[in-house]
Amino acid sequence: EGVKVVSAAKIGPVEEQRPEWNNNVEYFINKKLRVWCRVANGEWQLGKIQSTSADTSLVMLSTANVVKVSTEELFPANPDILEGVEDLIQLSYLNEPSVLYNLRVRYSQDVIYSKAGPVLIAVNPFKSVQIYGNDIISAYQKKAVDAPHVYAVADAAYDEMMRGEKTHSFGESGAGKTETAKYAMQYLAALGGGSCGVEYEILKTTSILEAFGNAKTSRNANSSRFGKLIEIHFSAMGKICGAKLETFLLEKSRVAQLFNGERSYHIFYELCAGASPILKERLKLKTASEYTYLNQSDCLTIDGVDDAQKFRKLLEAFDIVQIPKEHQERVFALLAAVLWLGNISFRVADNENHVEVVADEAVTNAAMLMGCNLEELMVVLSTRKLQAGADCIAKKLTLRQATDMRDGIAKFIYESLFEWLVEQINIALEDGKSRTGRSISILDIYGFESFKNNSFEQFCINYANERLQQHFNRHLFKLEQEEYEEDGIDWTKVDFEDNQECLDLIEKKPIGLLSLLDEESNFPKATDLTFANKLKQHLKTNSCFKGERGRAFRVNHYAGEVLYDTNGFLEKNRDPLPADLIHLLSSCDCQLLKLFSTKMRNKSQKPLLLSDSTNQTVGTKFKGQLFKLMNTLENTTPHFIRCIKPNSKQLPRVYEEDLVLQQLRCCGVLEVVRISRSGYPTRLTHQEFAGRYGFLLADKKVSQDPLSVSIAVLKQYDVHPEMYQVGYTKLYLRTGQIGIFEDRRKKVL
Ligand code: ADP
Ligand code: MG
Repeated sequence: EGVKVVSAAKIGPVEEQRPEWNNNVEYFINKKLRVWCRVANGEWQLGKIQSTSADTSLVMLSTANVVKVSTEELFPANPDILEGVEDLIQLSYLNEPSVLYNLRVRYSQDVIYSKAGPVLIAVNPFKSVQIYGNDIISAYQKKAVDAPHVYAVADAAYDEMMRGEKTHSFGESGAGKTETAKYAMQYLAALGGGSCGVEYEILKTTSILEAFGNAKTSRNANSSRFGKLIEIHFSAMGKICGAKLETFLLEKSRVAQLFNGERSYHIFYELCAGASPILKERLKLKTASEYTYLNQSDCLTIDGVDDAQKFRKLLEAFDIVQIPKEHQERVFALLAAVLWLGNISFRVADNENHVEVVADEAVTNAAMLMGCNLEELMVVLSTRKLQAGADCIAKKLTLRQATDMRDGIAKFIYESLFEWLVEQINIALEDGKSRTGRSISILDIYGFESFKNNSFEQFCINYANERLQQHFNRHLFKLEQEEYEEDGIDWTKVDFEDNQECLDLIEKKPIGLLSLLDEESNFPKATDLTFANKLKQHLKTNSCFKGERGRAFRVNHYAGEVLYDTNGFLEKNRDPLPADLIHLLSSCDCQLLKLFSTKMRNKSQKPLLLSDSTNQTVGTKFKGQLFKLMNTLENTTPHFIRCIKPNSKQLPRVYEEDLVLQQLRCCGVLEVVRISRSGYPTRLTHQEFAGRYGFLLADKKVSQDPLSVSIAVLKQYDVHPEMYQVGYTKLYLRTGQIGIFEDRRKKVL
């Protein structure tokens, strides 16, 4: 009686933990040691095994309830002394519930940073925690503290840079990346600042980029919609002397189309709310609610954010980064032009559904702000010139085509503006003079995305993450191996999971997703459906690919399966800009538009040739950027920070285990742990081991040096040679061994 039978839910791949564990079940019963047990509501609870038979066990939970679970689904819990350890590697049992619990214990004490071997884990607190600022910075600088922290990572990178002349970089993925990157920059600015004040400019560029490249999404009120790599240059004395910024694929579709509850780029709302009356008059600016591009999503403000104040801060940042006033004005004029373009409407003009532009204030203001002829703009928006032999005929557009044209202009202007700003920032941050080659790079890229509806943008974002993941895996695996080798340990290579097959699916030539996409993009008659069918025909043998009905397909990414809809893939990949539009832009009075159109003209005068770097498709260009990034990263010593989102409500003090677990699995933290598990997760210096367990020795005559003591202790207990390795400096123990020694220690004490 009193026995409640529940079935524990299986939660994933834990094979590696089984062999030793099965031999240990009896041991756990005898010693009354605790285990983790997943109860009916999916929660993990601690309990003690009462008995075991065949493959089920009776477990008494701390609530005194007894549950029957499959032994397969029990996990050994760690001894008390290991509660809330700084580094997950210190855990004797590296199973999922133990890792989750350890992070949870720390998180509940506002300790948001932990380590998983060489990786820093940051759990987003969603509130301000008192662990930043000058005092803490100087504590890390003086090495007075060594608790896991983004400052410690920045400090290590700085020291390594000063010792050698190598470049360094961080990679981050998850939630809290951008904030973490900012803290890392803050630390470096504090250490390397002072010589010419450029560090202050670097910090300010962040706020400019955030205004133009971040937006409120359903998951983050300040979500980065572009990737960035910032390379900070140091003098031989370790002072910051300049920086270089590189950005990756801005999500430009957001300019013209929003999902409910989301906003467009911050800058639009900031401009509308913060522009002075004079500027407003000059730009014919109205409130955000009057622009279709902004009001389509029913979300104009963000709780706790003052857009007008942000605008004033942006003006300050522009001044600090030395963007001249007249440039600033041009930027604002083009932003207003984009907003007015969005308000342009069309009316049907004939019985074939062809349209003409409604001549209202929207198109008038757009033309004025772009500095172009009103008539010409109206013609470009509603017709397309076609070459018919020697003649040129103007073909009228349908509503759909005209709207696409209008949105295409807006997106082109915005994207060009963003790229131009990055160039201006780079000019301002350039160190011109003697480069020492010393630098630290900070990478902050959009994280893996899987929505209900996934399009080309998600495909590119996830492809980037797939590439970074491979870099992460390979690097950590190598590090692990190097540590063993350095300490004289014989370590037979352990296989680890690679995502090469998924990367092949995307990148392989001539039969990979990107190649097939380019091929279809080059073929005038192709549609999104013919593209989808082509994928299904050619990629079905790849185990990461699954064709779906109609235009859909699935990719099995390292972080989970994503269902993509090919709708719009071809158009977004081609990203065309009609010749008559380029012509119009080049005739504009606006210097910036002239500049943008010249760049475009050089590109579009050639046919879409894949080998030609000036005229690449969006996908191919992105791939090229990623390869370059990978090349940069390969030549650096990376420090990885993995950011974890503890709940999806963006609330403090809420820790949703399933969500955390899913991210730990996705971003490979458990993989790091797994790699360590295949080896020897517990590492103690001989001093540490001898100091803690040396007193257990029966034979007191053993030489006093720590190495001999360690070996004697192991011999005395007849520890199987499979379970440990003796290195030059450290003792390496298999999972579970340290718990056994702790037990012996407790018994004697
Ligand atoms: P990501 O770049 O990974 O999408 P962000 O860095 O923009 O995520 O973080 C999202 C939000 O979480 C921030 O706007 C901030 O409110 C909060 N946050 C993240 N990291 C911290 C931190 N270390 N301390 C306090 N709040 C944080
Ligand atoms: Mg971000």
